[in-house]
Amino acid sequence: MKNLNRRDFFKTAALGATIATLGASSVKGAEKILSENRIGILVDTDVCVGCRHCEWACRTAHNLPTPDLETYSDNSVFIEYRRPDATALTVVNEFENDNNSLLPIYVKTQCMHCERPACVSACIVGALTKGEDGSVIWDTNKCIGCRYCMVACQFQIPTYDYDRSIDPQIRKCDLCHDRRTSGKLPACVEICPNEALLFGKRSEVLRVAKNRIKRKSDVYIDHIYGEQEIGGTSWMYIAGKNFEKLKLPPLGNSPAPGISESIQHGIFAYFVPPVTLYALLGTMMWLTKRRNKDNDDNENVDVKKDGKGEKS
Ligand code: SF4
Ligand code: SF4
Ligand code: SF4
Repeated sequence: MKNLNRRDFFKTAALGATIATLGASSVKGAEKILSENRIGILVDTDVCVGCRHCEWACRTAHNLPTPDLETYSDNSVFIEYRRPDATALTVVNEFENDNNSLLPIYVKTQCMHCERPACVSACIVGALTKGEDGSVIWDTNKCIGCRYCMVACQFQIPTYDYDRSIDPQIRKCDLCHDRRTSGKLPACVEICPNEALLFGKRSEVLRVAKNRIKRKSDVYIDHIYGEQEIGGTSWMYIAGKNFEKLKLPPLGNSPAPGISESIQHGIFAYFVPPVTLYALLGTMMWLTKRRNKDNDDNENVDVKKDGKGEKS
């Protein structure tokens, strides 16, 4: 950004208005009426055995570097608490059971696909969108790498692929969008050997979760995490232990975009319209990204001119 020259500055100003308009439409997108048939996935932590096959399947389905499945039986990975990152869109962690004579509790973590996603309302170019089916997906062609979604997400889910020097990207669970459009189950759900992950219509998944809690009231606490939290989420959890102790944060029931909007109003107090601020910052990042891509393209052209590395 420090190399922004006069020509780039005028390009920035001209593009600012366009991006501001796109930003406004992305906020509207977050309020879209969801389909009654939208998806829900239940994580039943009483059934999960911590095999981490879901981690392996997720990486494989997204063409991420994937160690052999056998290596996932190494339990030393549970020594440290892990978060999803650019190489693993979902991870499983182990927690002690309150009753030490019982088996540990395993909790899978990924994007929650919030009903009112803060990441969508924070994205100034509409790169993140909420679908009628409840999934939150993103368009890498629109993403300018501003990382506002990372700041806005209360689950701290979107990660940034810093290892890609040219054109790094935001990454998170996409609810296996490509697999589902070809009629398949999400990879993690399909592989789970214990049916710890229940995929279906959100209302139906909720009904099953309530039944399980009622039937085994000595096992589960009477709470479905994600039914109401921050306005509801597509992924939901049942467990025998307070969710905060399983690192599922106590967030209240107010949708998170309302909180982001309050922050934006705070910026107004300094007489800087936030959309303008975001638009200018975002446009500068877009130009930087574009310039990096142009440099990369030029390098590719040079290689071809030399006759080296050309594909036959
Ligand atoms: S968990 Fe975070 S990244 Fe996922 S939909 Fe919600 S706000 Fe967006
Ligand atoms: S739904 Fe797909 S992208 Fe999301 S955690 Fe499961 S396998 Fe990964
Ligand atoms: S594959 Fe199923 S049982 Fe295994 S860790 Fe994942 S959710 Fe748990």
